[in-house]
Amino acid sequence: MSEHDEDRKLGVSTRSVHAGEPRVRGDRSITSPVVHSSTYPFENTAELVAFMSGDLARTPEYGRYGNPTVADCEARLAALEGGDAAVLLPSGMAAVTTTMLSMLRAGQRVVMTSDVYRKTRQFARQVLARFGVVVDIVDPEISALEAAITDDTRLVFTEAPTNPYLRMVDLEALVALARRHRAKTIIDATFATPVNMQPLPVGIDLVIHPTTKYLGGHNDLLGGVVIGQQPMIDAIRDHVGMLGTIADPHTAYLTARGLKTLGLRVERQNASALRIAQMLSRHPAVECVWYPLLETHPDYALAQRYLRGGGGLVSFELEGGLAAGTKLVDAVRIPKLAPSLGGVESLIEQPALMSFFELTPEQRGEVGIREGLVRLSVGIEDVEDLEADLRQGLDALLA
Ligand code: PLP
Repeated sequence: MSEHDEDRKLGVSTRSVHAGEPRVRGDRSITSPVVHSSTYPFENTAELVAFMSGDLARTPEYGRYGNPTVADCEARLAALEGGDAAVLLPSGMAAVTTTMLSMLRAGQRVVMTSDVYRKTRQFARQVLARFGVVVDIVDPEISALEAAITDDTRLVFTEAPTNPYLRMVDLEALVALARRHRAKTIIDATFATPVNMQPLPVGIDLVIHPTTKYLGGHNDLLGGVVIGQQPMIDAIRDHVGMLGTIADPHTAYLTARGLKTLGLRVERQNASALRIAQMLSRHPAVECVWYPLLETHPDYALAQRYLRGGGGLVSFELEGGLAAGTKLVDAVRIPKLAPSLGGVESLIEQPALMSFFELTPEQRGEVGIREGLVRLSVGIEDVEDLEADLRQGLDALLA
């Protein structure tokens, strides 16, 4: 039995606190010190030569190639996700872009689903395309992926669950399809977190998370991580050294601290969001609710297969369209009107007026963004308070 299998038998909170850490650290501190050094001296030339020849393992010689605080956080993230190795980056988008830049060359193809994060699609369409990579963006269905994939496809990139409708992908079918074409698979698992879903044991090659969201968990940092097998992570790390997309040690410290409460937070967010989704589905001002563990969700069966919990995000459409959404987000007192998700504070927003503001209603319709859609990221506040707050806002729409 591998170390990962042993670790997976432990509970999520035990793993959140301890996965990837030594029993006792070399410096005897229980937390990792924040090392702010940009360069790491050698005792003498013999030590330098031993290090350069690979005979001596130690901190890399220069801050762009590694940092002890960042390495500590990476070890925790890799263990939590059940991967061999992880590389930490300065934002979720840095994780996405650095990974793709390190894996693709002109003439190769990427297949991506149409509901991946908007900036990821823009990067693929605007930047990768400039360097001769062909990008196929298709509906989030296995049949559509199957129709698009060719033997020139190097990468299949998707999210699970997706934003904002929390669609799920059949991970096993995706792995089988990609392997038939010798393509690599990447899942942006932001909405799932390692607590709710484990794509690596299913055979997905790389998992990406913006640590900005649930992993950091306190809306106080930006970061990203890529987790997978050692050779692929090493290749991405080489590109980090060239592109300079390095994580900052203080942020790595905050991320490692946030991780310790990941299990606690996500289990609470799972329970609260499910209860709120059920309450919303019963409210007459609400037309439709998307939450993966509601039986009415189009991917309920897949969600039951792959998700331990439904996560903290609930999307819903109001009968009264955009104006009703605006009234609701302005009427609630606890969730703050802001983008992002996954932190301890509940956040609420109308995608039509946030990420898709500059589009016309028709253009939003074409990309599947409904005018009356509201996205709620459930925090760790008491669920009774959140429910009462939302209910007073929704009731006011009917008055
Ligand atoms: N992936 C998903 C699904 C996201 O929601 C986001 C940000 O909202 C990102 C990636 C990018 O993360 P970051 O904002 O840390 O660059």
